[in-house]
Amino acid sequence: MRLAQLIRAAGSVVALTGAGVSVPSGIPDFRSPGTGLWERVNPMEVAHIDVFHDDPERFWGFYGQRFAALQDKQPNSVHRALVSLEAAGLLDAVITQNIDMLHRRAGTRELVEVHGSIEFCSCLQCGARVTLEEARELLAADERGVPRCDRCALPLKPDVVLFGEMLPAAAIERAEGLCASADVLMCIGSSLEVHPVASLPLLTHRAGGTIAIITQGKTPLDALASVRLSGDLEDEMGALSEALG
Ligand code: ZN
Repeated sequence: MRLAQLIRAAGSVVALTGAGVSVPSGIPDFRSPGTGLWERVNPMEVAHIDVFHDDPERFWGFYGQRFAALQDKQPNSVHRALVSLEAAGLLDAVITQNIDMLHRRAGTRELVEVHGSIEFCSCLQCGARVTLEEARELLAADERGVPRCDRCALPLKPDVVLFGEMLPAAAIERAEGLCASADVLMCIGSSLEVHPVASLPLLTHRAGGTIAIITQGKTPLDALASVRLSGDLEDEMGALSEALG
């Protein structure tokens, strides 16, 4: 298997993961026509920083459902394959667009969450932070379904990058550094359409590194990829693990 050979020969291997990696865990990718939650609302409109500020009830009406939808979701074999690669010294870091904490739950150590995660919610006024569990309790206890800061009574905001927000500078800088120095960048389950994350593989390519794209469906960077795998994600990663094992 070509990708396994490239990984064995590489000094630095980095994975960049997107929504497709969470799909086998039962978390739908809202960019593909989906089910349930994503059919009734447009997340790009509701999960927006302006809605959070202007209409926190509406925002949390949506985000509360999102919290509920992510509850009890478990890492899948793709997450676990990446943990095994890291443990074997064959993977330096995982950069993810996913906010669902599944890479961390699976055991990935070097993890860059460029869109934040649902692990905490924060008060934008005083900086107070609560855990996901505390946020769920506050949300359930509030008659309007809005988790609020203890001190300021202002609505808390999940520590995720909402539409209309900038990506956290430290995380994106770290991601850029990793991609620029990667000999092999594996892009897994991402349609590579959302900037600035979509431009990360270009940093690898410009620096002379190799891009592998493992996802179903076309991406704008397919022409740059030395390895292009488009089968079922769990099957492809299983085959890779086997070839490296
Ligand atoms: Zn506060």
